[in-house]
Amino acid sequence: MRGRLVVGNWKMNGGLAQNAALLSALVEGWTARDDRELSVCVPFPYLGQAKERLAGSAITWGAQDVSEHASGAYTGEVAAGMIAEFGARYALAGHSERRQYHGESDERVAAKAKAALASGLTPIVCVGETLAERESQQTTAAVTRQIDAVIRALGAALGETVVAYEPVWAIGTGRTATPEQAQEVHALLRARLASAGAADVRLLYGGSVKAANAASLFGMPDVDGGLVGGASLDAREFLAIGLA
Ligand code: PEP
Repeated sequence: MRGRLVVGNWKMNGGLAQNAALLSALVEGWTARDDRELSVCVPFPYLGQAKERLAGSAITWGAQDVSEHASGAYTGEVAAGMIAEFGARYALAGHSERRQYHGESDERVAAKAKAALASGLTPIVCVGETLAERESQQTTAAVTRQIDAVIRALGAALGETVVAYEPVWAIGTGRTATPEQAQEVHALLRARLASAGAADVRLLYGGSVKAANAASLFGMPDVDGGLVGGASLDAREFLAIGLA
């Protein structure tokens, strides 16, 4: 059975005091359950703080990006091995903000996922179409292109990834895909992954998920949880999404 996974993406938000309050509230409010997992992807400088506050709790943590290189002259980049040293379980790869503002190609995103796996992290590979692609009926083509690059690069390790479908037009806009729109793309991703022998990869939906819409999205057959941006900065809201 694919358990529910809800991951918070703090993006470039937070500060030591603010994080301490948020992490404490999450630890207080979340009880370990076999059927669901709550996780937070924090900015790199706060991985140590996440480890300190969350170790021993039922909440896991991760990073928001990872280098495709293991070490070397790559100023500003952070290697998967470094992230793993902080007890992280996950690293996002190919979030649309990385693709958009840092020009990350499908191949580079796949290489990042591969590097994460090599260090024992689970990559959460983000895919999703832009508004222009959706409006020109290119959703299937865009998402297929993105997931196929990952399938080609990972081979047998594909089954150890998590994939997040995040339509770019729904991220941080308050505009959410309907459960049916999300399910349609998740079914496509599931079929693609199944044909590569990885039918049980957890598929998260992301894009303006809130407590008010989480249950209907997560109720769809191929939606295994969510990747949550803005709403993950509010402990009550995020916990409610985790329990939806
Ligand atoms: C995200 O950052 O991955 C995201 C989905 O953001 P939001 O929930 O704010 O739309």
